[in-house]
Amino acid sequence: MTAHWRNPVGTLLGVFVVGVAVLVALLLIRTYTLAETKRVWLDKGALEAELTQEEREQLLEALKGAIRIPTVSFSETEQNNTALAEFGQYIRKAFPLVFSSSLIQHEVVGGYSHLFTVRGSDSNLQPYMLLAHFDVVPATPEGWEVPPFSGEEHNGYIYGRGTIDDKNCVIGILQALELLLKRGYKPRRSFYIGFGHDEEISGNYGAVKIVEKLQSREVKLSFLLDEGLAVLDGVIPGTKRPIAL
Ligand SMILES: [Zn+2]
Repeated sequence: MTAHWRNPVGTLLGVFVVGVAVLVALLLIRTYTLAETKRVWLDKGALEAELTQEEREQLLEALKGAIRIPTVSFSETEQNNTALAEFGQYIRKAFPLVFSSSLIQHEVVGGYSHLFTVRGSDSNLQPYMLLAHFDVVPATPEGWEVPPFSGEEHNGYIYGRGTIDDKNCVIGILQALELLLKRGYKPRRSFYIGFGHDEEISGNYGAVKIVEKLQSREVKLSFLLDEGLAVLDGVIPGTKRPIAL
């Protein structure tokens, strides 16, 4: 989804980043229908209670680092390919369990996009899919309080292009999965994760190629969750309450 945040600058409350990860993690947990395991997790209130201070810091740092890689889609034909490749290396380093788990198959698709297949224990359950993208629209320093690719944190906000469109989702999904794996979690239901590198310019080499791959494998999904948006208050015409997409 294209979001041209010229003014005010795109910002993200640090807590919100944690919230995204928690929500995604809860979603993953909810699909794991082993009642006992589920009860253990949910009875403690929320996954947030399970995050150590170190894990919270890692989550924030992971997003900041992602923002600093200028994965800009300039036009239909021009992207920062160096940054797109760097982003692939970055997530490998930041989320080692995701990339080494025997449950997960990782593939690079269309040059820079990523497809993860997370194998569940019950092949009778129809898989689902989580989507996000890591390319961003251009941003020049004008109109920004801090450089748009600095990933700087001020007064509890992380600043930068991609903080809410859509590296927050990419990092939230990966961090949630990393933490689940760290806790020995094994899903019953298989799922896919797709990260596109050219969503802002039609997705012809990312999303389209991922679809082709899944179609060739005759994958049928039970549902698919893609990028939403922050909770917006007073932004969408005709709405009087905060709206979440
Ligand atoms: Zn988007």
